[in-house]
Amino acid sequence: MNKFKVNIQGMTCAGCEKHVESALEKIGAKNIESSFRRGEAVFELPNDIEVESAIKAIDEANYKAGEIEEVSSQENVALSNEDNYDLLIIGSGAAAFSSAIKAIEYGAKVGMIERGTVGGTCVNIGCVPSKTLLRAGEINHLSKDNPFIGLQTSAGEVDLASLITQKDKLVSELRNQKYVDLIDEYNFDLIKGEAKFVDASTVEVNGAKLSAKRFFNCNRWISFVAPNFRT
Ligand SMILES: Cc1cc2nc3c(=O)[nH]c(=O)nc-3n(C[C@H](O)[C@H](O)[C@H](O)COP(=O)(O)OP(=O)(O)OC[C@H]3O[C@@H](n4cnc5c(N)ncnc54)[C@H](O)[C@@H]3O)c2cc1C
Repeated sequence: MNKFKVNIQGMTCAGCEKHVESALEKIGAKNIESSFRRGEAVFELPNDIEVESAIKAIDEANYKAGEIEEVSSQENVALSNEDNYDLLIIGSGAAAFSSAIKAIEYGAKVGMIERGTVGGTCVNIGCVPSKTLLRAGEINHLSKDNPFIGLQTSAGEVDLASLITQKDKLVSELRNQKYVDLIDEYNFDLIKGEAKFVDASTVEVNGAKLSAKRFFNCNRWISFVAPNFRT
């Protein structure tokens, strides 16, 4: 038996792994393992089967076999994900969501950790609530004191409780539309709790250790683009 590792372009999901594995199985390959996240497959071929037939089988399954290397049959080539995630994002604000979506488009397995409210500053306590109340204040001010001599406007007492209720409703709607709903749509994990680094590739959240190849700590870049992500 000869053992090979091959780069494969075009695998985007677990189903693709199955297609590649079944194509290799049909030409007589054994001990096949493939990983769409890494874009690789490892397999063994009996001595009488040329490696070119494996390349042909992968191509015929509509994937593109690239660099192929023979590895020692004793060598344990791990394709399985030893890390929990390709990318762990600390925080769930605007920066966190845009990085999660981009990383998922590149095939990464993504987790997001949030110690507070999903959506972070802008939607919950920043841009959205402040601009809503500022606009209400502006309208009230102009109603009392408008600059046009031909316009008669007036304003009564401000009902602050109603304004706050309306602001809270808007914040909640936008939090769901722009953040919470995207977690299922893009299929990544949200982990509630505070992340603390225990080493360069591990964080602890609520006592559980989570590892990742890369981290994105919102407000501070540690490292983002993993070399294995396929574009
Ligand atoms: C009152 C106010 C008004 C603003 N108005 C505007 C505006 O009109 N226009 C504009 O462009 N910008 C505005 N900003 C700025 C804007 O809100 C921020 O720049 C933006 O939200 C930052 O986004 P972010 O994704 O980088 O971080 P954030 O949205 O702040 O998200 C960081 C998240 O990380 C979480 N976190 C941090 N450490 C950890 C940890 N160890 N474990 C788990 N979670 C963690 C936090 O809980 C937080 O939710 C405003 C800010 C404020 C405060």
